[in-house]
Parts: sequence; C-alpha cells; structure tokens
Amino acid sequence: MVNFDYKKSLGQNFLKDENIIDKIVSAPLIGRNNLVIEIGPGAGALSKRLVNCFDNVLMYEIDTRLYEILNGNLDGYNNYEIIFDDFLRRDVLSDIKKYNYEHLYVVANLPYYVTSPIVMKIIKDRLPVDEIVIMIQKEVAERYTSIPGKKEYGEISVYLQYFFEISKVCNVSRNAFIPRPQVDSCVIKMKKRDILPYVKDFSLFEKLIRDSFKFKRKTIKNNLKNYDLNIISRVLEKYGYDNNVRSENLSYEIFVDMSNELSN
Ligand code: SAM
Repeated sequence: MVNFDYKKSLGQNFLKDENIIDKIVSAPLIGRNNLVIEIGPGAGALSKRLVNCFDNVLMYEIDTRLYEILNGNLDGYNNYEIIFDDFLRRDVLSDIKKYNYEHLYVVANLPYYVTSPIVMKIIKDRLPVDEIVIMIQKEVAERYTSIPGKKEYGEISVYLQYFFEISKVCNVSRNAFIPRPQVDSCVIKMKKRDILPYVKDFSLFEKLIRDSFKFKRKTIKNNLKNYDLNIISRVLEKYGYDNNVRSENLSYEIFVDMSNELSN
C-alpha cells in the first residue's frame, strides 16, 4: 500500500503474495453454516478472500487508520463486521452471540508481538473454535508443532497439543510481505481435538508442565523434586520410562496421566 505509514509496533506486515493467501484460505475443512474470526485484517488482503469463502466474517483491527481502506477493499460484501478494537481486550463470546453458526474458525496473519497472548486468549475464553489457521513466526511455529524428542518441544507444545492437533501448512518467506519483516513465517493449522482427555485438576496440570520444563536439561526427577516422586515413577513406568527421563521426551498424554495420579 503506497502512502501508508506501517507501524512496526503493531506488527504491520501486510501480505502481498496471492499464493500464500490461497493456501491459508483453503487450509480449514470448511463446514456449512460457518463464522470466521480474523484478527488483524490490516488492509484486507486475506479478508477479501475470507468474505468470498465463508458465510460470515468478524474482524478485529486495532488500528482505526485502516477504517476506510479496509471497508473500501471489502466494498460490495455484506457478510462482514469489523470491530476496531484490541482483540485481547474484547469479550469475544459476547461479540459472537448474535451469529448463528455451526462451525467457528479463526483465520489470521497474526501480529507477531502478541501471537501467544492471542492463542492463549482463544483457549482461556473457551471460544468454541473448530480450527485455527494462523500465520506466525517460524521459530514459534516450530515450538507449537514440535513432537516429543525434538529440541523445540517444550511447555507450550504440551499445553497446545492437549487441546489441538497441530500441523504445518507451509513456510512463508519474508518476501511475501510489505514491509519485509526480519523473520520468516509459517502457516499452521490447529484442529480442536474431538475429545479432550479428562484432567481432574487443570491448574495442577498447568503447574506440572511449567515445572517439568523449568530447566530443560534437567531430568524429571530434578525438576519435580517437590512432587511425590513415587507416583511420578509409577506413571512413567507404564510408558517405559523412569524418572531420569527429560520432559522433552514425554507426550501430553503422559503429563495428563501424571497430573491425574498426583491429584488423587
Ligand atoms: N491480515 C493482514 C494481511 O495479512 O495483510 C495484516 C496482518 S498484520 C501481520 C497484523 C495486523 O494486526 C495489523 O493490521 C495490525 O494493525 C493488527 N493488530 C495488531 N495488534 C492487534 C490487536 N491487539 N488486536 C487487533 N488487531 C491487531
């Protein structure tokens, strides 16, 4: 966009590569009667496609300077709403109450400075999303999608993988944006698990994974000194491990089992 004063502080790197937009929009398995939430529509590069493919599109854009450009680019469509506000401060459940939908998606090229707060808000607010398709910084995508045994696997991988099946859609070069960012990106898809494993005490589960990954190079035995190590050893044994194992080798199911046994 010529003459637009892009704000780095708002993560304003707008997409200009139509092939990437194709890949993002065709990533979710679109069910009938759907609503999509887009966070940070910018000038509407992605939004234009979303209003074509989805029944209703609800956008949150923090930068009111984009009001005319964005509405202008979506001229002729009546299946969208733009809320000019900070997504992180919205009561989104109440914003979507007026919509009738069977499937809810979040599709966005996220502002990178708030990627994790946005993803955490979607979870903590209990938005009933089916799938999330987001463009995020490549290194962050590696942590979200990493599997046990890989060096990027950590607390956030376990936490997100409890809720979602996460897969990579494509890598995106920094040349796909204007202005060109300092980092490469990746589009990922997060599909809500049909059935979430039962967790007796969710705050204990959260604390357990936080403590388990506190010192990455340490064994479970050393990171979890303040827990009942007999119980932990018993659970680990079921999966063929002892308490000299490192957290980076354990799947979210094992952490669920450990936290349930610990909360007995
Ligand atoms: N979707 C557009 C595209 O792909 O070309 C723009 C993406 S740009 C990476 C991120 C957008 O998020 C910017 O338009 C920025 O103003 C907006 N934004 C930043 N922080 C936000 C927040 N907290 N809530 C809503 N929008 C935000």
